[in-house]
Amino acid sequence: MCKSKIPNASATAKNASAPAPTGDGEVADFASTFGWIAGAVVIVVLLLGGLVAYFISSYVSLLTLAATCTVVTGATIAVALMYAKQAWKPPAKRSRSCGRQRFSAEDAEKKGPWDVIIVGSGSGGLTCASVLSQLNYKVLVLEAHELAGGSTHEYNVDGKTNWAFPSGLHYTIPASEQMLQVACGAAVPPVRFPKMGDDSDLGDSAYDRVRLGRLDKAGLSDELRIISDVQLRAELRERFPGLEPQLAKFEKLAMQLLQAFPIWCALHALPMGARRVACKALLPAVWWQYASKNSEEVLMELFADAPASEAENVRQLHAYICGLWLDAGCAPQDVSFFMIAAVSLGFPHEGGAYPEGGTKQLGMTLVESLESRGGACYVRAPVQQVLLDESGRAIGVELSELAGGAKLYAKTAVVSACGWRNTAQLCPRMQSSQQGFHEREKLQLRQGDGFVMLNVGIKGDAAEIGLPCCNLELQPAGDGMSVFDGVRAYLEDPLGVPITEIPAMLTFPTVKDRAYHKKAVPEGKSQYETAQVLCLAKTSWFAATEEEEEEMDSEKNVLSSNRTHTPAWKVPTRNKNYAEMKEKWRERLVNLLLHHYPKLEGKIELADLSTPLTIEHYLPTGSGTAIGLDTNAGKGCRFTDMETMALLDMRTVVDGLWLTGQDALMCGVPLAQAAGLITAIRIAGPIHATFFVLKAATLLAASFFGITKS
Ligand SMILES: Cc1cc2nc3c(=O)[nH]c(=O)nc-3n(C[C@H](O)[C@H](O)[C@H](O)COP(=O)(O)OP(=O)(O)OC[C@H]3O[C@@H](n4cnc5c(N)ncnc54)[C@H](O)[C@@H]3O)c2cc1C
Repeated sequence: MCKSKIPNASATAKNASAPAPTGDGEVADFASTFGWIAGAVVIVVLLLGGLVAYFISSYVSLLTLAATCTVVTGATIAVALMYAKQAWKPPAKRSRSCGRQRFSAEDAEKKGPWDVIIVGSGSGGLTCASVLSQLNYKVLVLEAHELAGGSTHEYNVDGKTNWAFPSGLHYTIPASEQMLQVACGAAVPPVRFPKMGDDSDLGDSAYDRVRLGRLDKAGLSDELRIISDVQLRAELRERFPGLEPQLAKFEKLAMQLLQAFPIWCALHALPMGARRVACKALLPAVWWQYASKNSEEVLMELFADAPASEAENVRQLHAYICGLWLDAGCAPQDVSFFMIAAVSLGFPHEGGAYPEGGTKQLGMTLVESLESRGGACYVRAPVQQVLLDESGRAIGVELSELAGGAKLYAKTAVVSACGWRNTAQLCPRMQSSQQGFHEREKLQLRQGDGFVMLNVGIKGDAAEIGLPCCNLELQPAGDGMSVFDGVRAYLEDPLGVPITEIPAMLTFPTVKDRAYHKKAVPEGKSQYETAQVLCLAKTSWFAATEEEEEEMDSEKNVLSSNRTHTPAWKVPTRNKNYAEMKEKWRERLVNLLLHHYPKLEGKIELADLSTPLTIEHYLPTGSGTAIGLDTNAGKGCRFTDMETMALLDMRTVVDGLWLTGQDALMCGVPLAQAAGLITAIRIAGPIHATFFVLKAATLLAASFFGITKS
């Protein structure tokens, strides 16, 4: 059952092939949609009956209404439970080709025609695809890499399979579990996201710890352990009693921004015209005033009246407040104050979580859900152009020559889930200028920075080495230095600062994955663990050639669009200095890891470094960024600048072309998931959106109350 809203002659002519086989999920969804429609009709009819009865006799009406309510409630619950019980379940055994299905034009034609084509298989694109497939759209996802999942895919370095490393998800919030369940339309959460927590040594369940580099010599007592927002607030008060009034001002302001954030997100579901009005009416004045300012400016303002004798304490407290700034992907002196509110109080309120079975589970499960409803996801399928018809409407995509230059058509929509600037590149210059995508020059927002990431393979057991289920966040601060100056010094001379003044995150994927240690190690084999060290890094530090560095648009932080892009499955050519540069970083980051975990000495069997250019090679955005568009304050701030918000709207200026993923809402896996959900329900329209929300609520309630069991 395909809901092709605007059938397009050229689209259907090319794809006049048989419909995809109907999967079990499709039957269940059809039954449930039918059930909900029937339920809605019954409600309306019975309520109308009740009203008629009311006008005939008020005594009769009361009885009629009572009976109506009972019958309707019972019927609705029965239909909902029936649906919840037969909702989608992941297959007992995952197919080997899941998320690795190579593109074949013939296969794509055979499985079509397609209602929606999605470019990019990250959490945003796949969530959107899976939700649309639940709403009975036939969806095709095209991925440039050889593995689906975008920043949630995992990789082995040089084929060394003892260690698998996550590419871009180090932790998320527990609600990722429910978002994935809803996106798959599943009876029970298909992947568990248990809370992280260092229950191995101190038993206090900290999921993050902050250490200040310059106080390091003072030992563990200066480490701030983050367990929850309540604990964190109490602990900061205890440590900094002389700054109580300033801390209270910070908390009040941060809480006001955090309360406004769900409204800012939810309003993305509205068309831009309505969103402009609703934003102005519903978002409080503090949002406009403070989300557009950087955190250094706001924290300085809030602590301006602190006694001079507390100066060092102010610096340390700021460093703890900004302790998780790396999660925002933007230096604390540039990042919007809202992001610091989110990572300092919002994140501890939710807690850190990590998917059981590794980050790849997220993408793979969404692919399974999509395929069970007749959809498909192909890899090695880089899209080079969005096809427009004479009226300028998006009607399909053209793949690059690497994938045979095939043209594929979509009857309802094309969704770009590969970043805003990539999307602008995909639109042909002539038509896009007519359509307004030439406005890309007007987007003030720069691309965010990237990360260097040290991937460490360890032979040994986490418990024996003392590796916790908890991240360690290192901040260059204390002893006279503010975190802002510390990060500035690092960005100016990353290889020159002492290793204890490198801002970094140390994290242990095999320990975070609660399923990993449940698997017994075969007789005679060793236990293997993984560690990763992440630092913010600029693409220009590693630019492949000097010309490329010169050609970089430093204001927008974008690499030259004329560069040759080697496909993800081939080895890229690098500048001769690249290996040397990598080696210097590798050595420093290994030393940093050993400094904090000396028991790792002699147990490291693999230490490989990835750079922003590696990110660009595997997850191309034209800039090597880890987070897509930046989360900075000031010029073009995505949280407050209405023109930026309009340019990033999910419904693009090109008719039939939609944007989803991190650039359409915000960076981070849970927000990319949320973007996928919102884009799907906007494409489907308000009636289908209402059904979808009802179905989602039923599923969540049924699994919460244990009606559906795994
Ligand atoms: C190193 C790193 C660490 C991170 N750590 C965290 C973390 O701990 N927690 C967290 O929540 N977030 C983290 N993030 C950010 C998070 O991963 C992203 O915000 C989120 O996954 C983005 O999802 P997305 O769907 O928008 O895009 P992506 O996951 O980037 O997917 C986009 C996809 O589009 C594909 N693509 C691009 N161009 C084309 C084309 N022309 N044709 C076809 N396909 C194309 C790409 O190959 C890619 O697979 C991290 C990111 C990185 C890189």
